[in-house]
Amino acid sequence: LDSYDHNSPWALDIGGTLIKLVYFSRKDSSLESVGNSVQVEEVGLVTGSKKYPILDGKLHFAKFQTSKINECLDFIESKLLHGSCCSHQEVSDKKKLLIKATGGGAYKYADLFKEKFGIRLDKEDEMDSLVAGANFLLKAVPCEAFTYMEGRKDFVQIDASDLFPYLLVSIGSGVSMIKVDGDGKFERVSGTSLGGGTLLGMGMLLTNCQSFDEFLELSHKGDNRNIDMLVRDIYGVTGYSKLGLSATTIASSFGKVSFDNKVLKDYKKEDLARSLLRMISNNVAQIAYLNAGHGQLKRIIFGGFFTRGHEYIMETISDGVQYWSKGKAKAMFLRHEGFLGALGAFKSYEK
Ligand code: ADP
Repeated sequence: LDSYDHNSPWALDIGGTLIKLVYFSRKDSSLESVGNSVQVEEVGLVTGSKKYPILDGKLHFAKFQTSKINECLDFIESKLLHGSCCSHQEVSDKKKLLIKATGGGAYKYADLFKEKFGIRLDKEDEMDSLVAGANFLLKAVPCEAFTYMEGRKDFVQIDASDLFPYLLVSIGSGVSMIKVDGDGKFERVSGTSLGGGTLLGMGMLLTNCQSFDEFLELSHKGDNRNIDMLVRDIYGVTGYSKLGLSATTIASSFGKVSFDNKVLKDYKKEDLARSLLRMISNNVAQIAYLNAGHGQLKRIIFGGFFTRGHEYIMETISDGVQYWSKGKAKAMFLRHEGFLGALGAFKSYEK
C-alpha cells in the first residue's frame, strides 16, 4: 500500500483528444476544490481489499482536453502545492517525481512535463495499460460491466475464471481491437481510423457544434431517416424480406443526400448528427463482430471515451453486435470506460 499512498499517486493517459488522470489518496483525505475550470469527474471509494491494495483508498478520475494540456499541468501543480497527494517531503522533492504515463502524449509531451515541473514521465506501453486496466476493472470492481439493450442497463458480474478470452474494443480518437487471453496476454487484432475523432471532427464540420457534449445533445433530437437511404427507399415498404432486411434498415448512410438536390443548410443539424453517430457506431460494432471471430468470442467489451455512458451510442453498438452475431455475442460496457489506460498505467506501480 505504501507504494500507492505516498510516493506514486498519479498516472496519466495522454491520448490524441483527451488526457486522462487517475490519482490515489488515502481513505481519510478529502477532495478539495481546485477551481472552476477543472472538474474531477468521479471519486471511487472501495475499502479493505488486500488483493487489490489500490482499492484501499480513494481513486480520483479527471480528464482534460489534450489541446489544453496546460490545464492538466496547472491541476497537477495545484495538487502538488496544496500537498493533497504528497507529503511535505515529496513536495519539496517534487523535482524527483516520476509519474507513470501512457498514450502517445507520454512521448510527445515528456519534455514539457520535465521543463515545467522537472517531472519525469515513466512510460508504459499503451496496449499493455489498456488491457491491464480492463482486466483489473472486470475482476476487481463490483458493478463495473454492464449490457445495454432496449433501454435497460443490466450489470454483469463476470466470474474471473470465465473472463478470458474476450475482445476489448477501445473507441478513442481511433479504434483498437484487442483479443485478450489473460493478464498480459493479448494481441491487437485490428483497428479502424473511423472512431471518436472522426465523429467529432465530421460532426463539428457538419453541424458547427463546438464540443462533444453539444454534438451528443443534437444527435439526441435528430432523425437519421431524413439523411440515410433506407431499404424502403429502394424496395418500398415491404423491404427485402428474403434477406431479412426490414424496410427501415439503413441501406446507405447519408445516401439520401445524394439525390435530394439540397445543400448543407437545408438539413437539420440534429438529423445530420444522428446519422453520423449511427454510421460510426454501426461500423465499429460490425468490425468488432468480425474480429470476435464471427461470434466465437462471446463477450465484446467496449472501452474508450467515445461511448461516454451515452444511451443511444450504447444501444446502437449493442444492436449492431446482436444483429451481426445473430444473438451469439454480447456488447458490454464499463463504468470507467475512458480510464482503462490510465488505470493500467497506475497498476504498473505494482510491478
Ligand atoms: P484518446 O485517448 O485518443 O484521446 P479517448 O478514449 O479519450 O481517446 O476518446 C476520445 C473520444 O471520446 C473523442 O474523439 C470523442 O469522440 C469522445 N469524447 C467524449 N467526451 C469528450 C470530450 N469531453 N471532449 C472531446 N471528446 C470527447
